[in-house]
Amino acid sequence: MKALIILLAVLAGVWLWRNGRKKDLAARNPPEKPSAPPAQLQEMVRCPVCGVHLPRPDALEGRLGLYCSTAHRQQAES
Ligand SMILES: [Zn+2]
Repeated sequence: MKALIILLAVLAGVWLWRNGRKKDLAARNPPEKPSAPPAQLQEMVRCPVCGVHLPRPDALEGRLGLYCSTAHRQQAES
């Protein structure tokens, strides 16, 4: 009986240790690394209507500038 209790205590200890390690690893290596996202490498433009910043390839070109959406292009140029 004593051996069983010791075994359970050891298993519980190992389980707790592994859980702690998992948390440690997650804290050290977050799944989304904030360093150097690809968006920062793109040229960013600002919509003059709402002020939102968006990548240059996603912007809509108008007569007076670049916009985030057709609605804002119409709003600014109508
Ligand atoms: Zn906008």
